[in-house]
Amino acid sequence: MAFDVAQIRSQFPILSRQVNGKPLVYLDSAASAQKPRAVIDAMVQAMETSYSNVHRGLHTLANETTEAYEQARKSVAALIGADIGEVVFTKGATEAINLVAAGLGASLQAGDEIVLTEMEHHANIVPWHFLRERKGIILRFVPVTDDGRLDLEQFRALLTPKVKVVALTHMSNVLGTVNPVAEIVRLAHEAGAVTLVDGCQAIVHQPVDVKALDADFYVFSGHKLYGPTGIGILYGKAARLAELPPYQGGGEMIGSVSLEAITYADPPHRFEAGTPPILEAIGLGAAIEWLNGVDRAAAAAHEAALYAHVTERLAGANWLRVLGEAPGKGAILSFTVEGAHAHDVAQILDRYGVAVRAGTHCAEPLMRRFGVTSSARASFALYNTHDEAEAFVDALTRTQAFFA
Ligand code: PLP
Repeated sequence: MAFDVAQIRSQFPILSRQVNGKPLVYLDSAASAQKPRAVIDAMVQAMETSYSNVHRGLHTLANETTEAYEQARKSVAALIGADIGEVVFTKGATEAINLVAAGLGASLQAGDEIVLTEMEHHANIVPWHFLRERKGIILRFVPVTDDGRLDLEQFRALLTPKVKVVALTHMSNVLGTVNPVAEIVRLAHEAGAVTLVDGCQAIVHQPVDVKALDADFYVFSGHKLYGPTGIGILYGKAARLAELPPYQGGGEMIGSVSLEAITYADPPHRFEAGTPPILEAIGLGAAIEWLNGVDRAAAAAHEAALYAHVTERLAGANWLRVLGEAPGKGAILSFTVEGAHAHDVAQILDRYGVAVRAGTHCAEPLMRRFGVTSSARASFALYNTHDEAEAFVDALTRTQAFFA
């Protein structure tokens, strides 16, 4: 059965709005996706009918809210094939990576090495730089090839006994490249390193089975997965979470507190200090339940077809440079237009109702690798249509004419 994009779209209220007098063409989902009615309703309903703080109450609303919050954890666990105790709620992928970096960093020594890649989002670079600055840890970066793949030969060469951590993205938010993560994790483990995979983009477009990937840690954000902002996931293997020191201190993460000493709660609660993002977790749970009702293979094929169509239509454009052409890449088109700054391109496209991102995409080292200071990025989601792909190509062609 064909993928029914009209039926999907009808569930996203925002997609029917106009921008600058034109129908909105939202091609910025890699930055943050729009929300289906199911997510909006779940959050409103929680506030209207069953809201309280979690875990600490003995009254009905506290119990109901706790049940909904923990149900969301179960939905996340089922989505990625994890055990429930291995799923930590954070405020986003960024916080999840900071939590792991701080925790692992505590037992690293000056001269230990961490391997990252040139295609990382700053969220998976800066927390490790903290360890370089504060502890003398050495950062190594796997180079990226001209077509946007990781150079695996170079990766193997970097894997010396000094390497304690390998952290990399599953799918690049700029190039769309899907990295061979299972293979990389296997090699890293053989070398004795702990692994972290940034799944922010991949989780949206493909099934993820953390046990099959075998990564020690896997992180993502709710807001790119059609859920709300303010919620992220840290998956950690139970044994890894058990040995990781707590990140923040406060209520709910302790066993007991006295004036002289503290004991900690078991994971995942050890890493959820204070009142957690309750409504956001419930919203993410609703997003996952909603996605479970979507034929995700058909959605991925639909996104791939949109991307293929756009690149075919733009194939002859000698004013366009596409960053990232790795085989099997996802539906993310990063590009520069000759003679134009990416910000200007994005602003002119906006006049046609087309929303794209422009800038460094929080990936300055990657921009440098490709010799550009910025790029524009059109990212396709399951709710985008063939007509929108056409509207984008049309608006981009008109935009380019301003600079020709
Ligand atoms: N990693 C990747 C690959 C991303 O695309 C993003 C967001 O753009 C992040 C990490 C950071 O996610 P957040 O800002 O939700 O913490």
